[in-house]
Amino acid sequence: MRIWIKNPLAILAENADGGVVVENGRIVELIASGGEPLRPVDQWWDARRHVIIPGLINTHHHFFQTLSRAHPQAINKQLFPWLTTLYPIWGRLDRDMFRLGVRVALTELLMSGCTTAMDHNYMFPPDVRDAVDIEVQEARALGIRATITRGSISLSVKDGAVPPDHVAQDEDEILADCERVVGLYHDASEGSMTQIALAPCAPMSVSLRLMRESAALAEKHDLRLHTHLAETEDEEAFCLEKFGYRPIDWLEDAHWLQPRVWLGHGIHFTCDDCEKLGRHGVGVCHCPTSNAVLASGFCKTRELEAAGSPVGLGVDGSASNDGSNMMEEVRHALMVNRLHYKSAEDVTHRDALRWATEGSARCLGRKDIGRIAVGMQADMAFFTLDELRFSGAHDPIAALVHCGANRADRMMVAGQWRVEDRMPVGVDLERLMIEHSAAARKFL
Ligand SMILES: [Zn+2]
Repeated sequence: MRIWIKNPLAILAENADGGVVVENGRIVELIASGGEPLRPVDQWWDARRHVIIPGLINTHHHFFQTLSRAHPQAINKQLFPWLTTLYPIWGRLDRDMFRLGVRVALTELLMSGCTTAMDHNYMFPPDVRDAVDIEVQEARALGIRATITRGSISLSVKDGAVPPDHVAQDEDEILADCERVVGLYHDASEGSMTQIALAPCAPMSVSLRLMRESAALAEKHDLRLHTHLAETEDEEAFCLEKFGYRPIDWLEDAHWLQPRVWLGHGIHFTCDDCEKLGRHGVGVCHCPTSNAVLASGFCKTRELEAAGSPVGLGVDGSASNDGSNMMEEVRHALMVNRLHYKSAEDVTHRDALRWATEGSARCLGRKDIGRIAVGMQADMAFFTLDELRFSGAHDPIAALVHCGANRADRMMVAGQWRVEDRMPVGVDLERLMIEHSAAARKFL
């Protein structure tokens, strides 16, 4: 089936004002203004009302946290007290809650323009040891592309760390499960819908041995590696006290200064650190909303990019955002970066969109997503400007970011419609909200 997505109102692609042709899940032709496809199409789809951008790619999240949004005990706290408050609450997570938390995060991401989701789950209570399996099932059911990380916590209260003992796991058990889920689900092929990455949680909750073993396993299976790093000054103080060096030295000690790594947050890096990360090709997922909510600080996006690091975008967990809306994240990225760099010319809506697309794709090590171009996967977000908030807007692409688009009218993933008329295909949203809200009440 060849479909011509015809004559969009605007499209974020070169020489494609006449639209794109999609065949077998890929973009096979870009049509210039007034042009026609080279070969006949089976169908055409009128995109005159739609502004089309590459599907957004989220590169840092904790899906289960949708169950603890705006939690009364955790709001208005910074990261360490926030974690100390929430971990015992999260310790009550059960299997049904986990599945619903995942389902809501994925659905919310998709509806906001995201075609590739990523999750960093580190909660593996006895009832939810197969968390990765549940996440893969849910992503496949929704039809969203996903990088699911096999997260891990090996240090808990008994070791002087914050996570409750029952959510932590023995390190050999973690490594064996990494092997298991990689064998079951990791698909490295072009157009892959499911990839697995390895993601020990953070310097406070895993050992160096687990970091090094994870790096070795990633090397063996050619996987990406992810962790939280340099999110707060508290973390730096923790590393100095426990290891006698800073978080970036911990990364090096763990054998993680390498291009298969991308980090969540990456705030408290010096300019020299940025140079070092760039030299080694380490990517950083910028999480502007979470960093603002938790008053953590600001990621040096320009210094990192100038040094050669891929910079992607992430909503982070829904307890520190407290949403999973990728278009809102793009808007916040624009604003936070302008505020930090005190420059409007040097940080544009196109930069923010680039982080959420091409930059995020580089973080995930993918060459087949992140752009609307011939040969790329047909992952696209379609927005209309029919809402009051866009009335009077001129530049349609800029309008999405500046006027605050936050809900796609249509979403296409691998050439398949996954959102139609603002509703996710095959999802009973009302029922999902009732079930998810009931599950979330168990965290009160
Ligand atoms: Zn996080």
